Amino acid sequence: MKRRDLLKATGGAAVAGMISGAPALLGCRQEAAPSGPAPAAPKNKRQRVLDLLGEGPAPGYVPAGFFIHFPPEEHVGQAAIDKHVEFFRATDMDFVKIQYEAGFPPHPEIEKPEDWAKLPVPGKEFYEAQVGVVEGLVKELKAEALVVCTLYSPFMLACESMGPERVVAHIEADPEAVRKGLETVTESVLTFVRECARVGVDGFYASTQGGEAGRFTRPELFHECIKPSDLVIQNEINDTTLFNILHVCDYHLPYDDLAPFREYPGDVVNCSLHVGEKTLTPRDASELFGRAFMGGLERKGIIVDGTPEQIRGEVERVLAQAADRHILGADCTLPGDIDWKRIRTAITAAHEFGVPA
Ligand SMILES: [Zn+2]
Repeated sequence: MKRRDLLKATGGAAVAGMISGAPALLGCRQEAAPSGPAPAAPKNKRQRVLDLLGEGPAPGYVPAGFFIHFPPEEHVGQAAIDKHVEFFRATDMDFVKIQYEAGFPPHPEIEKPEDWAKLPVPGKEFYEAQVGVVEGLVKELKAEALVVCTLYSPFMLACESMGPERVVAHIEADPEAVRKGLETVTESVLTFVRECARVGVDGFYASTQGGEAGRFTRPELFHECIKPSDLVIQNEINDTTLFNILHVCDYHLPYDDLAPFREYPGDVVNCSLHVGEKTLTPRDASELFGRAFMGGLERKGIIVDGTPEQIRGEVERVLAQAADRHILGADCTLPGDIDWKRIRTAITAAHEFGVPA
């Protein structure tokens, strides 16, 4: 049995049981007792989000999740763990989403495409502080909610390391040299993924960039150079962890075609609904990808500047156009200075959607 199948069969309990201090049984998709059906227990957030992945009747509950970057002094250690717990409790969101703040080592010496062959591979010690945050949050919250860590693609980490202009220029000049270099970054990301899995993470919020409209002079460069490393990572996480969200990130540039991402795995997809000249409904996006969609709100829209009534109205408008299996969220990370009460208002509206007054 594959690790992921084992996790699915036990709702993650197989991993939780290995973590000191975490409950061995998390109550998801447990087998009924041989003598008859187990008494119905109130569902926790873990179960409610996992219900979205099932093939049974639609869950009738809309989970929600939003995220922000915390200040640098809350990027690592107990301060980071505490801040994520505080945010999870204050917003009442339905899963724990850990911000990845480790970055990637800067490499000013990579001046031309052939230099990518010299790129060193950061090992697990590089990720130690970030994995410590993941481990702390697994211990603190995994019993009640899925714990998901942000994962940037090898291309995104290379851009962070060298600057996007240089990476794009190198790809334009010699895509094969950079594709090989990205294999080195991929190896390092896999180390991080495996360390997170070792400490019990439920999955990843896995971002991709590079396929946006106008990123390259030839769109095929995304397919030739970036997509292969994306798929290595996406396949690894989806084979080995329980719950993964594919994030097609439009933070830098918009998209005019989402078709290249339909073959990416992932239990849920999260992206902007603006594609070229068109605006999809959440239901369209869910049908396009053939899975649950997360999103609907704009990260710089009503959630940032609307009144509570307007936020509730926007959530209801979005959810009226969503498929039965939907997670309310935004198209990317919200501004760091947003009042958390606004997020709570949106999440409460999602939880109350469709429930008779
Ligand atoms: Zn994004």
